[in-house]
Amino acid sequence: MHGDHAWDLGGQWVGGTHKLLQSVVKDLGLEVFDQYDEGKHVLDINGNTAFYEGNISTLNDSYSLEGVFECIGQLDKMALALPSVRNPLEKDAELTGIDRETEGTPLIWDQQSVGEWTEKNVKGKDARTIIDWFARVCLGQEPTELSLLYFLVFLRAGEGYSRLADIRGGAQEKRIVGGTMQVSTKLGEKLKKNPLCQGVLLNSTVRSIEQHKTGGVRVTVWRDGADPSTRKFYHSKYCVVAVPPTVAGKIEYFPQLPAVRDELTQRMPMGCIIKTITIYKTRFWRDKGFSAEAISDTGPIFICYDDSALDGTAAIVGFIGAQAARSWATKTQEERQHAITQQYAKYWGEEALHPIKYLEKDWHGELHSRGCYVGLMAPGALTACGQGLSEPCGRIHWAGTETASRWIA
Ligand SMILES: Cc1cc2nc3c(=O)[nH]c(=O)nc-3n(C[C@H](O)[C@H](O)[C@H](O)COP(=O)(O)OP(=O)(O)OC[C@H]3O[C@@H](n4cnc5c(N)ncnc54)[C@H](O)[C@@H]3O)c2cc1C
Repeated sequence: MHGDHAWDLGGQWVGGTHKLLQSVVKDLGLEVFDQYDEGKHVLDINGNTAFYEGNISTLNDSYSLEGVFECIGQLDKMALALPSVRNPLEKDAELTGIDRETEGTPLIWDQQSVGEWTEKNVKGKDARTIIDWFARVCLGQEPTELSLLYFLVFLRAGEGYSRLADIRGGAQEKRIVGGTMQVSTKLGEKLKKNPLCQGVLLNSTVRSIEQHKTGGVRVTVWRDGADPSTRKFYHSKYCVVAVPPTVAGKIEYFPQLPAVRDELTQRMPMGCIIKTITIYKTRFWRDKGFSAEAISDTGPIFICYDDSALDGTAAIVGFIGAQAARSWATKTQEERQHAITQQYAKYWGEEALHPIKYLEKDWHGELHSRGCYVGLMAPGALTACGQGLSEPCGRIHWAGTETASRWIA
């Protein structure tokens, strides 16, 4: 919160094709508005800073970006050729439009990282930087840490590169008036009123799940920081665990889970992201014809946007991702704020050096999330234990965004 305003330090945007979320937002009586994107954007990569409107293709004079669109087209083609999001390694599946000899197969794609693929397949340095940047920003991991196949699965679930990266028609199209957190708080209020949901227990952590031979499940819960003797037990026929796999791996299971599921929980780390909001007295960048959208490969902020409230309260939201997030997490909040405002001043002038408030959240250090936006896979993990992701283990079923077949994260 700053004054009367709430800013989201977690999820924020409603995408143009997030149809289910859009209908929940409407049912809850919330309103959306367009993400501001008018004016010049910044591209600050490989030691060069340039300004453009619309699409980066207009920057061909300042950068050698020729390869970018071919590469995005190739990645989208490979993603679309996958047999499915949930079973990308389906045996003998037809890979429409793919020449297995020259372009590979899902199994081969899972043996290499995104970084290895871009190194081999994207010719220009600037074009390579853009693709690598996307992995850092959209997934919070270094391209060298990320399986190409998992990246393709993510692209396929998100309807392709442009849909994921864009504002208009893309995942960053709309914001919710008053903040996206209201979706959770309003759903919580509705739950409280529903007589069928009186057993909902908030602010408590599931510690263990036991499955009994006679049928049924016992879940043990106690609050963080409380004495374990305060634990409570819940009994049910089935149990749905809707947390990221690496978070689910911290729960104890009796009997032990099948090895493939246990291995999956060890091989699906979260991405590393620090989300920051810098609040100003005025939207000085707009007065100068800028959108506040900037792409950088050095940071600390790798991507930022105008985050002003509808009433004009001025703010910029910026993300630090992947290895940079790990490094900046070791510094103080003051050091991060200083470096971020310096970066903004480089783009939009010295007014950026004087925010009235700075807010941030390092998701990598969050006990019950362990990072964001979503669980990820390094090369080989999908092949080794991908089937453990959503296959039920007895009476325990797995849910959460990682198990989605559309819009993973
Ligand atoms: C900084 C950030 C920005 C994002 N931006 C966007 C965006 O703009 N648009 C978008 O669509 N998505 C965005 N996302 C992603 C989106 O928030 C996630 O995809 C979504 O929250 C996943 O929902 P989930 O229910 O699967 O898991 P979660 O939201 O992680 O929910 C799991 C819940 O379980 C709780 N929990 C964990 N362990 C236990 C336990 N042992 N016992 C009891 N409870 C437990 C956690 O505290 C948490 O409340 C963003 C995420 C972050 C962090």
